[in-house]
Amino acid sequence: MSLSCFDPMFGERMLSVDEALAVLGDSLAAMQRLRATERVTLDKAVGRILAETIVSPLDVPAQTNAAMDGIALAHASLPRATLQDSANDACELRVIGSSLAGHPWHGRALEAGEALRITTGAALPVGADSVVMQEQLQYFATGLVDARTDSLPAAGAGDAERVVIEGASSVRQGQNVRQAGEDIACGSDVVSLGQWLTPAAVGVLASLGLAEITVYRPLTVAIFSTGDEVTAPGETLSAGGIFDANRFSLSALLVEQGIDVLDLGILSDDREALIVALQDAASRADMVMTSGGVSVGEADHVRGALEACGELALWRIAMRPGRPLAFGTLKVAVGSEKAGGQVPFFGLPGNPVATMVTFLQFVLPALRQMAGQQPRMTAPAHQQEGESAMTVVPMATSLAYWQSPRLQLIAGETLRSRPERVDYHRGRLVVGEDGRQVVMTTGKQGSGILTSMLAAECLIEIPAGCARIDAGEPVMVQWLGAQ
Ligand code: AMP
Ligand code: MG
Repeated sequence: MSLSCFDPMFGERMLSVDEALAVLGDSLAAMQRLRATERVTLDKAVGRILAETIVSPLDVPAQTNAAMDGIALAHASLPRATLQDSANDACELRVIGSSLAGHPWHGRALEAGEALRITTGAALPVGADSVVMQEQLQYFATGLVDARTDSLPAAGAGDAERVVIEGASSVRQGQNVRQAGEDIACGSDVVSLGQWLTPAAVGVLASLGLAEITVYRPLTVAIFSTGDEVTAPGETLSAGGIFDANRFSLSALLVEQGIDVLDLGILSDDREALIVALQDAASRADMVMTSGGVSVGEADHVRGALEACGELALWRIAMRPGRPLAFGTLKVAVGSEKAGGQVPFFGLPGNPVATMVTFLQFVLPALRQMAGQQPRMTAPAHQQEGESAMTVVPMATSLAYWQSPRLQLIAGETLRSRPERVDYHRGRLVVGEDGRQVVMTTGKQGSGILTSMLAAECLIEIPAGCARIDAGEPVMVQWLGAQ
């Protein structure tokens, strides 16, 4: 892969977020390797990515069954006069037995004027097509016509019983019945290759009787913090020092994604030490990520180090927070089993909010793509004012397809931005004076104010081309934590 082709294209001008997503997606697609898989039991499946498409081996539900407790009957066997006369529509049937969940009826088919007691989930007997719920029924033991019982009679009381349906004219053919295969038809695709397994997906897989599935192996990501002032929590802070927030917010974001983290600590602002560390990390991880040191200050050595052991593009991206972002590839040195290969590298900005926001916009989609997750069908468009929708449909490889979904909310306050960039305000939901839900910013929005992320439930995205969103107007947000 060559990143040098970007230079003539983009020169010194800023990249838009969409351009960066497109170039990143292309670069990663060109680097694609075989993804290793493994079998896991269902109790370990949540948050994993399916490496096979699951075709249903059966109908779910397996048999047509009752959706309510009550009686099963053939609708056609109800007396027509009863069905037509809603003033006097009680109707009496003979109860010939029962079908209980797990204990289906094995007796003869129902005949006209007959019913079978049935419980929720029990198979519908041959000849029945409808279920009348318990609340609409009165049971009578033969010979004891006045001995009304409200509850379901015990199994075995069988043939002697009669039942009266109150309001029989309301009974519809097929009511309260779940058809075999109405949820999942045998032979249909149920969960697809590349799907992130949610609790619901795990439940569906279990309903098919599967005990194990094939998923992609987790990616390993190596992370460093950089900076002479950056100090590990637990150590003593020297004058001018700050505690290392980024390594912990980043590793927590990675753990949330089910990624194996290779935490390689803090690197001082020293070009040679960075080169050694990056080369070592490349031989051990699927991606390497640093924070800090990517600006053009005296102590910013990430760029120089990367140029010595790989290829680098240092981008100024038209977004706030998070303007400087380094992306490149590290060459895996001789001696490693991956020798000769390339590993993607992200150099994130050092300011803690910028670190998290650039991770969410670029690294998270990159990790989803690398992990084998299927892209979302609709990539969001960061439409410039005056552009037609057609001009902003991203390329199929663009990481925009792997970004987190956006929701539309109502702004609870006036939001300002500069039109030449995308602004990501940290937002939270509040209930406005009129009782409607609106989204507000979380107070001070500086890129070093990490508590603005602490209070945030979402990132409010003010697109390029937009200078102001008034209170009451719709605004797009990325919900934090959504897959
Ligand atoms: P840099 O990009 O290295 O110039 O860093 C920009 C700002 O982020 C500086 O104020 C740094 O002290 C701060 N910073 C860099 N790395 C970290 C970190 N790991 N945790 C918290 N703040 C950091
Ligand atoms: Mg620094």
